[in-house]
Amino acid sequence: MTVFKPSRREMMKLAAMAPAFALPALGAATGARAQLGAPAGANATHFRFTLGEARLTILSDGYFSIPPTGLGVNADPAEVSAFLERHYLPTDESYSHTNHLLIETGEAVVLVDVGSGSRFMPTTGRLIANMQAAGIDPASVTHVVITHAHPDHIWGIRDDFDEPLFPDAEYIIGAAEHAHWLQDDLVNKVAPEDQQFVLGAVNSLTLDGVEWRLLEDGDEVTPGVRMIATPGHTPGHMSVMLDSGGKQVIALGDAMSHAYTNFTHPEWFNGFDADGEQTVATRMRLLDMAATDRIAILGYHFPFPGVGHVLREGDSWRFLPALWQFEG
Ligand SMILES: [Zn+2]
Repeated sequence: MTVFKPSRREMMKLAAMAPAFALPALGAATGARAQLGAPAGANATHFRFTLGEARLTILSDGYFSIPPTGLGVNADPAEVSAFLERHYLPTDESYSHTNHLLIETGEAVVLVDVGSGSRFMPTTGRLIANMQAAGIDPASVTHVVITHAHPDHIWGIRDDFDEPLFPDAEYIIGAAEHAHWLQDDLVNKVAPEDQQFVLGAVNSLTLDGVEWRLLEDGDEVTPGVRMIATPGHTPGHMSVMLDSGGKQVIALGDAMSHAYTNFTHPEWFNGFDADGEQTVATRMRLLDMAATDRIAILGYHFPFPGVGHVLREGDSWRFLPALWQFEG
């Protein structure tokens, strides 16, 4: 099987085929984003804090835009639009961040997801550069954990020469996720617009030089870090729970992908959730657990740095972003 290396033209074709990841304005600014103006120069690309004994760094892989028509596909589109407008969000695109959790425990350096790499979108694939800017040597990563095998989470596994980017790490993914993408002939069982995602997942999961450790719900990655099954967005999607000094944070992956709709309307699912009803059931369980046990969460696609808490408000919830602290 050949490696998928799209040109810009192919990317546009792919974008047209795959509405979930379509680019309404590749590289161009859109008017409706401008509730606040675009930054003049670059902003920070990492955010560092501690949890118990662990040092945590949120690292950005960049950003991309998807059409908001993919949000809340089981709701009235007019209601979704009105919701976005009320929350000062653009109604012609959904601006998606990519927040990676890096956990340093003293013995282990765990990276959750590897981003898009250089073959997905021009605005993503910045993880390695941002890691270096944060003073973290990619070679120091001991464990790479993949939440699910979508392009923005796994295609960054290889460099431009098809070598694994984290040569000394152990690679971990949920057993069900691994089995789903590597099932016989999946590429011919899915809709044409999903075929590149399947090829990309298969190419990533079969990369030379990477051995996978396949884990189940509750299995330990390294002391203090374990997997929790959060299926729905993909069949074998898993999230990562860190427990240190009596405090916890869950890197959700895409078990929740929107910091507003997912909390106020947890019953809405998105066009890119493989199983909408299962996604909602998983989300309800996560929201209840995080609010009840006061567990911090990190949303991969939430506004950077995407870490915060869950507040229960009657039958719905609200995301409370963590305080940005400049020094300890
Ligand atoms: Zn994603």
